[in-house]
Amino acid sequence: MNPIQKRIDAMNQRVADLQQAGLYFYLQPLDELDGAWVTTGGRRMLNFASYGYLGLLGHPRIEAAAQAALARYGTGTHGVRILAGTLPLHNELEQTIARFKGAEAAIVYSSGYVTNLATVSSLVGRNDTVICDKFNHASIVDGCLLSGAKFARFRHNDMAGLEKRLQQANPGAGTLVIVDAVFSMDGDVINMPEVSRLCREYDALLMVDEAHSLGVLGEKGHGIEEHFGLEKAIDVYMGTLSKTIPSVGGYVAGSQDLITYLKHVARAFVFSAALPPAQVAAANESFKVIEDEPERVKVLQRNIELFLGGLKERGFNTLDSETPIVPIICGEDEKAFQMTKLCQEENIFVLPVVSPAVPAGLARLRANVTAAHSEEDIAFALDVFERAGKEVGVLD
Ligand SMILES: *Cc1c(COP(=O)(O)O)cnc(C)c1O
Repeated sequence: MNPIQKRIDAMNQRVADLQQAGLYFYLQPLDELDGAWVTTGGRRMLNFASYGYLGLLGHPRIEAAAQAALARYGTGTHGVRILAGTLPLHNELEQTIARFKGAEAAIVYSSGYVTNLATVSSLVGRNDTVICDKFNHASIVDGCLLSGAKFARFRHNDMAGLEKRLQQANPGAGTLVIVDAVFSMDGDVINMPEVSRLCREYDALLMVDEAHSLGVLGEKGHGIEEHFGLEKAIDVYMGTLSKTIPSVGGYVAGSQDLITYLKHVARAFVFSAALPPAQVAAANESFKVIEDEPERVKVLQRNIELFLGGLKERGFNTLDSETPIVPIICGEDEKAFQMTKLCQEENIFVLPVVSPAVPAGLARLRANVTAAHSEEDIAFALDVFERAGKEVGVLD
């Protein structure tokens, strides 16, 4: 058989087997998103699978901004940014992001995934070296591969490993180090002070993906530098407009020179259409809401403590998470699927992550807590997780 067809068949078989066993939880359509609640398959469940860390979806100011933009400009621009696709709204959003991140300028792209792909492949090429933490997001890995640069990886959060890679970088060519601020599968935080120090020592450019730290880390939710009390530690701030920010798109913030360069070189910016007006306006207003309602960040941080503390007390392994992304380690894939089933039967909407997305034997529920959860929501969820954990044998 054609090997391509074989590959297609193998995946179809895996999906069909899980569906038959009643253990397939992906692609579930959500009929309603309502704060901490989600309705799917006719059931109203507490949502522990959302990236809306500050509970901003449906915020009246954000919806009003989106509706006003829709009324004024319509549903699209028919253009790429560099030619006929730029609205004043795009420039305003870029200025808002730059201000929020304490950078000179910013560029927005049509998704976070595309942002990494386009930015990494614009910054490095053949002969250069790009160095990544092994747990970096897939979009960063894909950007590195696309760039054609020498691709080196170091053990997760291992600073001696990073230094060794820096020493092995191609001399006389560019070196770019890329890390996630908060790791998307484990919920732990990069050792940013040390990464930044090493990058300065070895004259490497530093890029950080803040998909899960924007609105989450730092007293006011400004991200990884605020968390560690650092300033100007990072050259390329990358983030997404689809997680804490209830819109779609991705951004890079940094020096004016960097942003001007990307706006003329990044292929996904030059050759792909601009973000639609309503989504741009929603994103722009969201940053302002975060500034105006700092209590949301406080509530999130309290909820992280309640949720993580409660899980640990009950004996769950949550790795080194200290953020709203909480891995509840189950072991084999099958156990993660069984746990998911039991939790969903008790109206906790949580999803499993299995190999190859995470190492075999470390299959997990990836439970996300947000500012939309109440203390009671968290207490209820903890009880459900405990019952399910005991039944499946994840807890003794
Ligand atoms: C989600 C995510 C992205 C991609 O962002 P999208 O806007 O969803 O395309 C990039 N990096 C990390 C670490 C992410 O978690």
